[in-house]
Amino acid sequence: MSENILEKHPEYEATIGIEVHTQLKTNSKAYCSCANKFGAKPNTNICPVCAGHPGTLPVLNKKVVDHVIMLGLATNCKISKISDFARKHYFYPDTPKNYQITQGDYPICQEGFIPVEQSNNSIKKIGLFRIHIEEDAGKVIHGKNNESLVDLNRSGVPLLEIVSKPEIKTSSEAKAYLMRLHSILRYLDISNANMDEGSFRADVNVSIKKKTDKELGVKVEVKNINSFKFAGQAIDFEIERQLNKILNNKKIKQETRTWDTKTHKTIFMRSKEEAQDYRYFTDPDMPVLEIDQNWIDEIKKQIPELPQEKLERLIKDYKLTFDEAVILIEDVNLADFFEQTVKIVNLPKQICNWLLRNVLGYLKTEKITIEESKINHQNFAQLIQEIDKGSINTKVAQEVFEIMAQTGQNPIEIIKEKGLEQVSDEKELENVVLKIINNNEDQKAKYLAGNDRLIKFFVGQAMKETKGKGNPVIIQKLYEKHLK
Ligand SMILES: [Zn+2]
Repeated sequence: MSENILEKHPEYEATIGIEVHTQLKTNSKAYCSCANKFGAKPNTNICPVCAGHPGTLPVLNKKVVDHVIMLGLATNCKISKISDFARKHYFYPDTPKNYQITQGDYPICQEGFIPVEQSNNSIKKIGLFRIHIEEDAGKVIHGKNNESLVDLNRSGVPLLEIVSKPEIKTSSEAKAYLMRLHSILRYLDISNANMDEGSFRADVNVSIKKKTDKELGVKVEVKNINSFKFAGQAIDFEIERQLNKILNNKKIKQETRTWDTKTHKTIFMRSKEEAQDYRYFTDPDMPVLEIDQNWIDEIKKQIPELPQEKLERLIKDYKLTFDEAVILIEDVNLADFFEQTVKIVNLPKQICNWLLRNVLGYLKTEKITIEESKINHQNFAQLIQEIDKGSINTKVAQEVFEIMAQTGQNPIEIIKEKGLEQVSDEKELENVVLKIINNNEDQKAKYLAGNDRLIKFFVGQAMKETKGKGNPVIIQKLYEKHLK
């Protein structure tokens, strides 16, 4: 959509920056020892600190700092040896202490980048301004009788804010950036980054300017987007809305909007004039955080292979195409599943094809992930082996796969139980072939008169006769022998 509208007006370009908030996976909260758990009974994981009682003091969770350092290193950031904490003030019933502890001018991570693959197989580095620690607020629940209830279980849950530079140009680049950041968090195992539970959400800033203009256009922020698809749609919508205004000589107002998933539009939330003044100041309860080189080195050792490295390795080691590898690495569990299967049966191309087509198709329909499914790599390897040996054809293999995915049953058992072995016995198939030729004198005559394409008809008849179990290669050979 928008890429089209910008194609029609090539003198203009979009500038997009993204802020992501992600919840960290830790046992306890950021500044107290309450459990960091999703879905507990309201107000069961709270204490005077995260409930904001006066006179209590926050104590920073070391694990949170470990995680931030790790993400910073994985996204090529400089790790600050000294960083500070600030208070961001606002009044809302889900935040009893009336401020959020965040970081000020000296966040832990600064000046990094995330490499993103582009459609022409090149890599673009999207710059990061900063990554810093924040804490989540509680939740206000509006009841049936107009009452409002407050649940503070989420209050003080550690959050990271990851702020990109405005270096993104299109919705597809924005989606690629978000997906890559999401994978990095999952590879590092520092966040569930579960978008349905709100533990990974994005605010996108979109502005339009003439390519020749040095200064950026007026920025509009679309807040709290919790899906890659919606992020792309919201950006496309904003580019079109803003460019139409500019083309009609109307002014863009600096404002905050929200993405409406029902109307597929961004909706006005508040203008710049209504923006809150958070009155930031250094938090006197939080000492300056010092991180020494040993700490950084310790974390560095724990960093696993990252998506970008895995991408290059899968292409090199298994001769996968760039596009195949990009899909596989998106989900670290899927990439692991692929490699574990290859270890058992060394047929990387076939395994990759099956994974990307049949397995991903199945997971998408069932709305589950590979680790939530009953498909295990041992069974999957056996299925690939049976296909490769020719004991089942691809049509039957799909049937076996579906049973295997639903039940977790072993494919060899399924094949035996259902009598699905491919018939490769030449004598048996020859009888079928001869019978079909006898019953189709007309087609035979046409074939002999030069209509070669009828071979497909004959093979199809034999497949039908053998209930899809005949070996099509042998059947074709037998026809070529007997159709004379
Ligand atoms: Zn607490």
